[in-house]
Amino acid sequence: MAQTRIYMNASKSEADALFKLLDARFEEDGLPISVFEADEENGRFEVSLYAEEEDADRVFNEVGEAVATLPDPPQLLREVLPEIDWVAHSLEGLKPVRVGRFLIHGSHDRNLRRIGDLAIEIEAGLAFGTGHHGTTAGCLQAIADLLKREKPRNALDLGTGSAVLAIALARAARIPVLATDIDPIATQVAAENARLNGVGALVETHTAPGFHNRIFAERKPFDLIVANILARPLMRLAPQMANHLTPGGALILSGILERQRDAVVASYVNQGFRHFRTQAREGWVTIVLRR
Ligand code: SAH
Repeated sequence: MAQTRIYMNASKSEADALFKLLDARFEEDGLPISVFEADEENGRFEVSLYAEEEDADRVFNEVGEAVATLPDPPQLLREVLPEIDWVAHSLEGLKPVRVGRFLIHGSHDRNLRRIGDLAIEIEAGLAFGTGHHGTTAGCLQAIADLLKREKPRNALDLGTGSAVLAIALARAARIPVLATDIDPIATQVAAENARLNGVGALVETHTAPGFHNRIFAERKPFDLIVANILARPLMRLAPQMANHLTPGGALILSGILERQRDAVVASYVNQGFRHFRTQAREGWVTIVLRR
């Protein structure tokens, strides 16, 4: 199903104001809204609203009316996003990945499931996370190890991509998992994958850049947070991670290169975290911390 992105370019403060305005205006429609830094050098942001193709004209006009109330209304732009082509992006030919009890496989490898496996079916699509990347595998390993020792009551998967980690958590621990991504297409794929893997009722998906969505305040504190993003955003998010994690809760971070490890650990130690362990895989490290 094709989606239309309706977007506008803004400064940081304008973007914050636009987000608030649009969030309030379109809350009932449940349209995903995102804000991201489009041009870091010049501090320019893009505020985007995503609508189904058939609603796009109506939403475009309504956004126009809403922003016209501002002293300096931004120019509205729109683009049709590419449709998800599951066939062209299928995992055909990719081998399944085994980490602990988890088996991540495409639909063509269903027959490889063994008794006792926690099998997760993911087709390679427009969202990252088939288990083949060292960072995903590192997180799955850390999740498998952690669940042997403790049972968190809930979890957050920030930067969920295909939802592979959220599904692993929901399947293995039977706990509610909030799964968020800055990319609304990923969120859409994540919701679909969670449903296909029988954990649609446990995995709640939302589009959000970082912690920029009121759902976090509603669902916090989390006993466990996993975030496989990249070192720089992870360092920036350290204070908010501390704010959303239960005292004593665990944090699994990945997307970090070996040489970035010390800087990431330092920014979390600054926020009252204790470093628990680091595991390396294919040049990437997965770090486990505790608050
Ligand atoms: N969790 C999956 C996907 C990791 S890829 C796995 O482990 O395989 C990283 C994902 O984080 C991408 O889907 C990307 O869209 C998302 N992302 C990047 N920056 C983000 C941010 N600031 N807030 C939320 N999500 C972000």
